[in-house]
Amino acid sequence: MSHQPRLPERYVCTDCLVVSAGRRGEGDDQRRPPESCGACGASAFVEIEQFHE
Ligand SMILES: [Zn+2]
Repeated sequence: MSHQPRLPERYVCTDCLVVSAGRRGEGDDQRRPPESCGACGASAFVEIEQFHE
């Protein structure tokens, strides 16, 4: 397993499939999805790594 570079986590809206950048949690490197999709307003996201099959 190689070290992964620190890139903003990206999430895919499960409704319209628009990719949004995740938010950084307080303190550590917690990953959090956006509050809502900028395109359709939904709040259901999957990490882009999981979305990619
Ligand atoms: Zn959406």
